[in-house]
Amino acid sequence: MGATFDLFTEPGATPVCSRAGCSSTASWRVNWRNPRIHAEDRVKIWAACDEHRDFLADYLRSRSFPVRVTGIDDDVENLDDTSARVAGDGR
Ligand SMILES: [Zn+2]
Repeated sequence: MGATFDLFTEPGATPVCSRAGCSSTASWRVNWRNPRIHAEDRVKIWAACDEHRDFLADYLRSRSFPVRVTGIDDDVENLDDTSARVAGDGR
């Protein structure tokens, strides 16, 4: 396991893309969770620039992790195991 890179440790700090080697300002959050090691209410966040948003999300989806991409200021409280689920099902 291991924290790959946890972002937003300092509220108000300018988020930078999580992609290794990229120092672009992030405008997206990639919210994800590893169901094997994280509790259901746990949400890990990577920040992503426009260029790497899909790369990071696909990377996680390829591991069958629940993933949801949101705007950089949007909070996600939890993630469904079914990543294909449409948001806003009233749960
Ligand atoms: Zn990037």
